[in-house]
Amino acid sequence: MSGYVDARLTQRHDWADGLATLRFEGEVPHFVAGQWVNVALTLGAQVVRRVYSLASAPGAPAELFLTRVTGGALSPHLFELKLGDAVGLERVAHGFFTLQYVPDAEHLWLVATGTGLAPFISMLRTDEPWHRFTRIVVVHSVREHAHLAYAAELRTLVAQHEPTLAYVPLVSREAPQAGVIAGRITAALVSGELERAAGVELAPATSHLMLCGNPDMIRDLTPLLDARGLVRHRVRKPGHVTFEKYW
Ligand SMILES: Cc1cc2nc3c(=O)[nH]c(=O)nc-3n(C[C@H](O)[C@H](O)[C@H](O)COP(=O)(O)OP(=O)(O)OC[C@H]3O[C@@H](n4cnc5c(N)ncnc54)[C@H](O)[C@@H]3O)c2cc1C
Repeated sequence: MSGYVDARLTQRHDWADGLATLRFEGEVPHFVAGQWVNVALTLGAQVVRRVYSLASAPGAPAELFLTRVTGGALSPHLFELKLGDAVGLERVAHGFFTLQYVPDAEHLWLVATGTGLAPFISMLRTDEPWHRFTRIVVVHSVREHAHLAYAAELRTLVAQHEPTLAYVPLVSREAPQAGVIAGRITAALVSGELERAAGVELAPATSHLMLCGNPDMIRDLTPLLDARGLVRHRVRKPGHVTFEKYW
């Protein structure tokens, strides 16, 4: 396939059934943290492609953070990959969901549902956010505790970058464990719990938000942010919110 490199699966971590991180060896796509590539598999006579954010730091072996969509055309097949199996990874990455397009702000909020955490893990594995922002808040909303992937890495970063990073996990379908908020991001924003856990206020004068993942989260959060004066950022009309919808 032209424009693709062969990447072999070298490592796999299953966080829960249908939620995994896959690491590949081979030529690493050129990308900036936050960008995505097409991933291709030949299935029978057909090449099936879907786009995935890279969770690895640029230059490191490519890492994907995946959920299995039941009945999906590609993702169930990615979950069947065994060590040594190959996929096609697009050689050049795409997308504008990168820190380059985020205006300067004191506080950076990285708000994800599910696998929407992937681009943020990539960004946090680079130096840029640590130089640019005095406070970084990672909000990760999932259904069950087992889906709080990368929690150990994030807690290590919290300790290393004290007091810059706050990690705010939310679980919507289980009673919350200590340090985890129950319910959805929207409810936690309205109740004030989100900002209490983050240790900073969300305010237009200080904050920029990057939202990633489930389009319903982005749709529901947008008017709440808007009401607080946090509006969509556009190159020609600067604002406070950038987002990437996964479907
Ligand atoms: C810019 C971008 C980056 C993406 N990055 C990732 C990523 O890092 N990890 C990842 O798992 N997916 C990611 N996706 C989604 C991915 O491209 C596929 O849509 C997904 O793997 C389903 O493909 P499929 O062929 O199995 O299902 P399809 O037959 O294409 O079914 C698509 C349906 O699956 C559901 N769906 C799609 N993605 C997800 C998801 N992540 N979580 C829950 N439900 C979903 C939606 O209902 C969608 O309508 C990204 C999408 C975009 C647009």
